[in-house]
Amino acid sequence: MEDHLHKRDHTGVQDFVLLEDYKNPDAFIENLRKRFQEDLIYTYIGPVLVSVNPYHELDIYNSDIINSYKNVNFYELPPHVFAIADASYRSMRGENRDQCILISGESGAGKTEASKKILHYIAASSTHSKDVERVKDRLLESNPLLEAFGNAKTTRNDNSSRFGKYMDIQFDYKGAPVGGHILNYLLEKSRVIHQANGERNFHIFYQMLIGSTPINLKNLKLTSDPDKYFYLNQGDSSTLQTMDDQANWRAVQHSLDVLDFTQQEQKALFAIVASVLHLGNIDFESEETTDHAKVTSATNVDIISELLGCKDDSLLSALQNRTIEAKGEKLKSPLTVDQALYARDALAKGIYDRLFSWIVHKINDSLSNRARSKCSLMGLLDIYGFEIFQVNCFEQFCINYCNEKLQQLFIELTLKSEQEEYQREGIQWEPVQYFNNKIICDLIESKPLGIVSVMDEECLRPGDTTDQTFLDKLSEIIGKHPHFICHSVADNTTRKTIQRDEFRLLHYAGDVTYNIKGFLDKNNDLLFRDLKEAMSETSNLITSQCFPKEELMSKKRPDTAATQFKNSLAQLMVILMSKEPSYVRCIKPNDYKRARHFDEKIVNHQVKYLGLMENLRVRRAGFAYRRPYEVFLKRYKSLCPATWPNYPGDPKVGVQTLVSYLQYEENDYRMGKTKLFIRFPRVLFATEDAFQH
Ligand code: ATP
Ligand code: MG
Repeated sequence: MEDHLHKRDHTGVQDFVLLEDYKNPDAFIENLRKRFQEDLIYTYIGPVLVSVNPYHELDIYNSDIINSYKNVNFYELPPHVFAIADASYRSMRGENRDQCILISGESGAGKTEASKKILHYIAASSTHSKDVERVKDRLLESNPLLEAFGNAKTTRNDNSSRFGKYMDIQFDYKGAPVGGHILNYLLEKSRVIHQANGERNFHIFYQMLIGSTPINLKNLKLTSDPDKYFYLNQGDSSTLQTMDDQANWRAVQHSLDVLDFTQQEQKALFAIVASVLHLGNIDFESEETTDHAKVTSATNVDIISELLGCKDDSLLSALQNRTIEAKGEKLKSPLTVDQALYARDALAKGIYDRLFSWIVHKINDSLSNRARSKCSLMGLLDIYGFEIFQVNCFEQFCINYCNEKLQQLFIELTLKSEQEEYQREGIQWEPVQYFNNKIICDLIESKPLGIVSVMDEECLRPGDTTDQTFLDKLSEIIGKHPHFICHSVADNTTRKTIQRDEFRLLHYAGDVTYNIKGFLDKNNDLLFRDLKEAMSETSNLITSQCFPKEELMSKKRPDTAATQFKNSLAQLMVILMSKEPSYVRCIKPNDYKRARHFDEKIVNHQVKYLGLMENLRVRRAGFAYRRPYEVFLKRYKSLCPATWPNYPGDPKVGVQTLVSYLQYEENDYRMGKTKLFIRFPRVLFATEDAFQH
């Protein structure tokens, strides 16, 4: 078997640890570029896979290639996402350890595509039986459905995931998939009511309008023209060249059937999607003598009431009034137009967000392991990457916080696994200096003085709290923190670059300036009680489940959005920590979604914030190359008379004989229990050159 990693030519090295100049980012980028130019989009850093989005179809995912990666040692074939999947799968089976594959990278870098390829590989390479086929179908069909409801066109990616996703695949003792479970994280629900120029709402709206039969549209009281709907026409970009909404609509129908959504549920589901569109078209005006909001036309409200089966005029009333309890008495207080618009949008976001979670829940029902036998797990994490926009808001704050947590996990686990390997092999561990971003995680999440706590405190504090009072609090409480800057604490030069309504966090991946507008509001995530009540009384079987009566009864204030997110991330970390991780680090080659275009500046930036140089340094701090004795001996035995054609004894002794014969210096290598460790690539390359000649 050939050991491909040794190859060096115009296509660069297949493993960055073999770069001689490994501390130099330019050499790193150059290696990536060379390979990218040849459509070699995958490269390793030891066990970590770096992937560059090719932005065109490559013929490297067909069934022959799948077969060639099955049961083959990691380094025997060119780097590939299938090799990661295979290694993880085999480690799960062989060592009986739960696995997880963490896929990271910025928007458009190829995370979702990578996760789909892994899923396909697993589906294609495990054993077949009728039951297993059923499970595989369902696992695969969960993707089109979740993408329809959770993905949207952004300026960066025509199919951008607007939610985080962690999916466990469950395997039985024979290694066949028997079930699955999905956890979803923070859907970007603000998109339901507003899209920036050039962006779209979630795909499902357009798919439904273009794909439904005229009769179905009529039943939902819809027209097929997206531009007629306020929630769809703000981005001024309803069609998408790269997406076939009609074909995807059919795919969604198919997924719903495969995943056991009943006809009744499907009907209820699309009644809700339609209702969201009708909600957006409701407008309000002030009553003549008062400033009370009144809907300009009752038509849309009537349609929604019918589609969702609202009780009497509960919806109309809840859109125009708020019930206040004072001294045990309930009073109806009319809303102003601004408040009514706010309530309408909050309802649209609330309904859609809960619908999305309901769908995930239904999929999980359908994926659940019927046999309930004990199983091994392989988790796939496809979550939003670090984001820096022109203007960064609450959403970016949450997303970047999530990436801080993942980076921390990455650092800890990579270092830990390096350390463990040295220990296992009986080789002395040499500690490596690295930047631990725990300090930033603490800045965000510690209690009571972290940003989330201060924000929650400000949301709960009675009185006139505003985004600005929140910022003042931050500056007062954490103004001195080395990773926090705002206008009032900045030095003279920095102050020029930061406005009074902004704060800046020095993230591990770079500095991000956040605009505080909307932070408290989004964190509060307020949906007036009257609207919740109206929804809980609907006859639509989904809305009535999504707005349970118990929620209204509960006296406890629900957790804020940031705290909920923080808690779900903490749970995710526990899940990931308990598993053996593998990593896919995705890189976007350019900002134009263009094939064969490698923008060094953009790549450089990502290499930096993915911490790849750091990762390589840690990997190289010890030994660039390590292989089991058998493997090394098999390849190079011909270089020494004592080991050729076969070494009869212990392979470890054979390798010792071989490297002594090759005159390896004492400091160049170490002999572990099962593996040979070589410190510098040049030593290995010299051996490889001798072998080639
Ligand atoms: P986001 O964070 O916005 O969800 P992402 O990292 O999930 O982004 P993808 O949706 O996976 O990005 O990829 C964006 C687009 O890039 C895909 O729709 C596809 O056109 C192209 N692409 C990604 N990976 C590959 C690949 N391996 N081969 C061919 N095209 C790819
Ligand atoms: Mg994605």
